[in-house]
Amino acid sequence: MMTFEENIEQYRSIIDDVSLPTVREWKSKHLAGKVVGMFPVYTPFELPHAAGMLPVGVYGAGGKVEIDHADSRIQSFVCSIARSTLELGLRGMLNELDVLWFPSICDVARNLSGVWKPNVPNQHVEYIHFPQNMMSAAAPVYYRAELQRLLGNLQSLAGQEISRDALNRSIHQFNRNRELSRTLYRIKSVTPWLLSTYEAYVLMRLGTLIPVEEHNRILQNVLPEIQNRNPKPRDYVRVMLEGGFCEQPPLELMQVIEEAGCYIVNDDLLLHTRWFEEPVPVTDDPLLSLAEAYIHRSRYSSVRHYGNKPRKEQFLEKIRENNVDGVIFCAPKFCEPALLDYVLLKDESEKQSINYLTFEYEEKMGTFESIRTQVETFVESVMFFS
Ligand code: SF4
Repeated sequence: MMTFEENIEQYRSIIDDVSLPTVREWKSKHLAGKVVGMFPVYTPFELPHAAGMLPVGVYGAGGKVEIDHADSRIQSFVCSIARSTLELGLRGMLNELDVLWFPSICDVARNLSGVWKPNVPNQHVEYIHFPQNMMSAAAPVYYRAELQRLLGNLQSLAGQEISRDALNRSIHQFNRNRELSRTLYRIKSVTPWLLSTYEAYVLMRLGTLIPVEEHNRILQNVLPEIQNRNPKPRDYVRVMLEGGFCEQPPLELMQVIEEAGCYIVNDDLLLHTRWFEEPVPVTDDPLLSLAEAYIHRSRYSSVRHYGNKPRKEQFLEKIRENNVDGVIFCAPKFCEPALLDYVLLKDESEKQSINYLTFEYEEKMGTFESIRTQVETFVESVMFFS
């Protein structure tokens, strides 16, 4: 039987493999099965799942391919995830995906979906229009209609109707997945010495590449193992990582932050896995349930318009709830939503005398030594001067 650490390294090799081995395996067992690629930050995984399809997270190439073709189709001054995802598409490395869903998170995602259609003609592309005015009574009705449109397209692709019961069964599975993810994050917040962010990230990222039922089983099995680990707590500072909600930072970057003396007790990585603060209700109208959950019970994010609770209030709540000593603003290069929010949240941090450190990342970062030095200096300043 493999140890927890051996499992993590095996999962790491899966998430590092841009040829999508788990997706190819699923397709070999489901010969007529369809796969739907989901661009971050949030897309309703429940819909393709209810259609018997495999929803799969699309997070770019993580620095594993050279950008040879994409730069002739999309600007070189956009985030790495957009450029490397397009590169994978142009090289045919995403051919296992039958459909790609791009959510309306920013201009770059919008443009990417537009560039995709003529350049990767064999793939069906959907652009999901999220509601913008969360306070409007029309918002749930509007978004429900958008979900119905997406469902209709999946039904055409599957050649069969997707029933209300199937949707509710999918909601139930993803509710369970979010509950297990929240438990994992509670462990990280309350006893961060039991589980590093690197390990938690590998576990969560694996879930974007395999069926949700399988991921639920894996999480259920590892949670008691994690609780039974016995490392000694260290004299580390408790930090929150803010800004990595879409393009994911290199794993080495998280390791460097932790090695430099930080427990990362909260982050916004792979945000869709903890998108809803409460379970989505199972009702007679599952699409409306999903729509209302998106509007009233989603976590805050730079790419989601908020309702009656400003982002900075929710940011401060997260700091208090996790008993954080400092914030590391760590955003992808050229990500406008992250940079716009950074100004707002940095100002609030200064007003509230919250320690913070800032740096940017991209997929192909060669060296992390300067970041290590910055984090070590930050840790010392938090420990000795605040
Ligand atoms: S990283 Fe930022 S700019 Fe790039 S697609 Fe995501 S939200 Fe948009």
